[in-house]
Amino acid sequence: MTDSILETIGLTKEFRGFVAVSDVSLKVRRGSIHGLIGPNGAGKTTCFNLLTKFLAPTRGQIKYDGRDITGMKPAEVARLGLVRSFQISAVFPHLTVLENVRVALQRQRGGSFDFWRSDSLLRAFDDRAMELLEDVGLTSYARANAGELPYGRKRALEIATTLALDPTMMLLDEPTAGMTHEDVDRIVALVKRVSVGRTVLLVEHNLKVVSGLCDTITVLARGSVLAEGDYAAVSRNPDVIAAYLGT
Ligand code: ADP
Repeated sequence: MTDSILETIGLTKEFRGFVAVSDVSLKVRRGSIHGLIGPNGAGKTTCFNLLTKFLAPTRGQIKYDGRDITGMKPAEVARLGLVRSFQISAVFPHLTVLENVRVALQRQRGGSFDFWRSDSLLRAFDDRAMELLEDVGLTSYARANAGELPYGRKRALEIATTLALDPTMMLLDEPTAGMTHEDVDRIVALVKRVSVGRTVLLVEHNLKVVSGLCDTITVLARGSVLAEGDYAAVSRNPDVIAAYLGT
């Protein structure tokens, strides 16, 4: 078993000649929380979409657990245990919070709808869903309509539905974007909790969010890797400071 669970080699994405991600090689250590950060336009979202297979690279390779996953579809990599957080748009607003997690658990079973017809299976799914809701601090919202959840709680639900897929590695796209300070603290604590025994790659704009969370941080700027290291090292790096200040 190698030390790194996810590796990119020379990952490059061009949009009609514009290089959004340029020759990015990174290694994510098994069991770590790895941050991929950078100022606006750095290529974070493009990188995330390449890693989660929603975009195909122009050049380069992605390896997960020693296997070349470059040409694979999102569902295939999810089956290998590499799961992206669902977007809020994937939360079903008219279903309850509990039902949303139940649907995700059902999806993990491979799309069979048998459990709708079996009381005992339904109970087993609900028990597991309640455990996951407890993990993310949403027990008291279980019967609420997902559409009525406050924004920060929706992001927690998004993490619960991701956990329902039993990931070995989670890819989280700006889990604290647009949140109040209080919600940010809650989500940071939550990511810390759910990362135990897993690997997490977190795409984030906010340096502060990754400071208490990430073991290793890769800084992107203008599509390329600018710096890599722990928070203390990258936050002192003059190139990183200049990139964030836009100088
Ligand atoms: P970040 O997430 O770090 O803000 P993005 O990955 O969204 O950066 O964008 C990186 C660069 O690639 C930006 O200059 C953006 O305008 C460009 N870009 C992203 N997606 C596309 C696209 N589909 N077509 C053309 N240019 C794109």
